[in-house]
Amino acid sequence: MGNRTLAILKPDCVRKNLIGEVITKITEAGFKIKAMKMTRLSRAAAEGFYEVHKEREFFNSLVDFMTSGPCVPIALEKENAVADFRKLIGSTDPSEAAEGTIRKLFAESKQFNIVHGSDSDENAAIEIAHFFPRKELLENYND
Ligand code: ATP
Ligand code: MG
Repeated sequence: MGNRTLAILKPDCVRKNLIGEVITKITEAGFKIKAMKMTRLSRAAAEGFYEVHKEREFFNSLVDFMTSGPCVPIALEKENAVADFRKLIGSTDPSEAAEGTIRKLFAESKQFNIVHGSDSDENAAIEIAHFFPRKELLENYND
């Protein structure tokens, strides 16, 4: 078994009808989908999820964005999942993202950047638990 990361297809990804294309990129890169749902974050959930950024000037607009419509959290598994997924999505700012990355291909700005990826194994475990109850994960991981 590889390790895990949490992806979120953000509300801009859903609005632009890019769920299918982005998931194709993710699975073609060798990630296995272990759990997935579509959900709309409450303000409290979005504030909690991005708590590390609460002092930043963009915090309120980030929370507005993340609560603006449904998103698609996905628990992914692969060897070296956290680093490989961040490589696949590219830099936070799409203008700085490498060619071929998901953000370079689809994102329009540093805020509206299509997809989230966990930044450490520790945060991946916390973030996956945030969206997927233990029972659901155990059932899905049972392969
Ligand atoms: P994510 O955590 O969503 O995977 P990231 O790790 O690349 O993205 P972070 O620094 O954790 O980037 O920022 C979290 C999110 O906050 C970004 O994905 C983006 O949507 C938003 N954000 C970050 N910096 C800015 C900024 N300067 N202006 C507006 N929004 C920003
Ligand atoms: Mg981050």
